[in-house]
Amino acid sequence: MTRAGCAPLALICIACQAAASRAPNPLEAQVLGPQQPPGPAVSPYVRISGPRIALLHVKVIDGTGGAELTDRTLVIENGRIASIAPDSATPPADASILDLSGHTVIPGIVGMHDHLYYIGRPDLDAAAHSEPPLLAPQMTFAAPRLYLANGVTTIRTTGSVEPYADINLKHLIDGGAVPGPHMDVTGPYLEGSHSAFVQMHQLKDARDARNTVAFWAEQGATSFKAYMNITREELKAAIDEAHRRGLKITGHLCAVTYPEAAALGIDDLEHGFFVNTQLDPGKAPDECPSSVGTPTLLAMDPEGSEATELIRLLLAHHVAITSTLPVFEQSVPGHAPLSPRALDCLTPEAREAYLYLRNRTNSLSPDEARKRVTWWQHDLALERKFVAAGGLLLAGPDPTGNGGVVAGFGDVREIELLAEAGFSVPEAIRIATFNGAAYLGLEERIGSVAVGKDADLVVLRGDPGEHLADLENVELVFKDGIGYDSDKLLASVRGRYGEY
Ligand SMILES: [Zn+2]
Repeated sequence: MTRAGCAPLALICIACQAAASRAPNPLEAQVLGPQQPPGPAVSPYVRISGPRIALLHVKVIDGTGGAELTDRTLVIENGRIASIAPDSATPPADASILDLSGHTVIPGIVGMHDHLYYIGRPDLDAAAHSEPPLLAPQMTFAAPRLYLANGVTTIRTTGSVEPYADINLKHLIDGGAVPGPHMDVTGPYLEGSHSAFVQMHQLKDARDARNTVAFWAEQGATSFKAYMNITREELKAAIDEAHRRGLKITGHLCAVTYPEAAALGIDDLEHGFFVNTQLDPGKAPDECPSSVGTPTLLAMDPEGSEATELIRLLLAHHVAITSTLPVFEQSVPGHAPLSPRALDCLTPEAREAYLYLRNRTNSLSPDEARKRVTWWQHDLALERKFVAAGGLLLAGPDPTGNGGVVAGFGDVREIELLAEAGFSVPEAIRIATFNGAAYLGLEERIGSVAVGKDADLVVLRGDPGEHLADLENVELVFKDGIGYDSDKLLASVRGRYGEY
């Protein structure tokens, strides 16, 4: 967080002077604040805890993008990583020992587009038509368990349809009352008029945008997200109010183009390059075209001058990009099916809707199918180009849509898709861990496996460096040094995702 970001708040700036070497980040206390020990509803999911835990014979992919370390002894002490030593080191005599030969440790995933709801399509019929209004039922029970079970130890909710529920959930998790990840709670969607979502407030003007940000920041929201129909004037007011409070704001935009949002000072843009409307035919200022960015991405040659100029502009304004490949993968014919373990978590109705919609995508006309492949490949190339130019790429699955993107499982799938896009496995893991931590300003606490950092770690059976799909073999997830049993968490939500 910059000093300028905290200047108007006298109290915070006294703290600024006290810690001259490190500007305070309000998110550190709010997102990673003190955790109460697991209560009676959480304890059944804990496999290992205690003041000292030693993980023996592990490989480590540390989240910084560097090469894999082999044969390590990793000691966790009071919730922090105390040492990472060669295998020959003797672990402390009083430590609980886990022999993890054949396992790999990666940092806890920092999921940067990790919602707590599901999109319901009432009365979906055989022509893929559903009745209005589109609804987003809360997954307040299932989603936090799915995130934690899959190794996601910190989430940004990136748009809330029930912000009080999300804020209260965060307090329940921090208080040890329910299992789940650390949370950066995003306020309600900052949406303009003509929204398709009945659960969203529609901003009236810039003053409304400013007041909405101020109100929800006071309630405990620690980030904001602008949505498709927001205007430039409303967005500018929201950005200024969030920044005045030392908070960041991202956007899934449409009426405002990427270059416009960058110039207005937005911190992050969601959905890779899929929703930029700058080249959409007939794009009118402050209006979201029904084409929602598809023509822009199809027209943007990743090697062309428009792409180069856009990326230059994003870097000049320090705008991050959040890659959300799993939700777009659903639109590409022949995409990978949901894993059986993820499918098991869906309600029978959600499972049926997912399989049905997947089959429809696989029977598109050859022309349409080709178009979608080009669209997908342009985005992958632009994400790679953005990173090569020095841009900060974040990762999250956007678990909405047709059931093909499941909370937690989708975060793992995102890493696999980044690797398929051409990033090395350590780089793909870095994008999903360290980069998110760095964006949040929390990289001294989380996001990599290093001595002194919080013990937010994922224990995988196998080695994703050699076999990518081993990322899916999550056995144990440490959050603040407490080891949660992935299978038990998954068993508790079997058949529930889509319901609650
Ligand atoms: Zn989303």
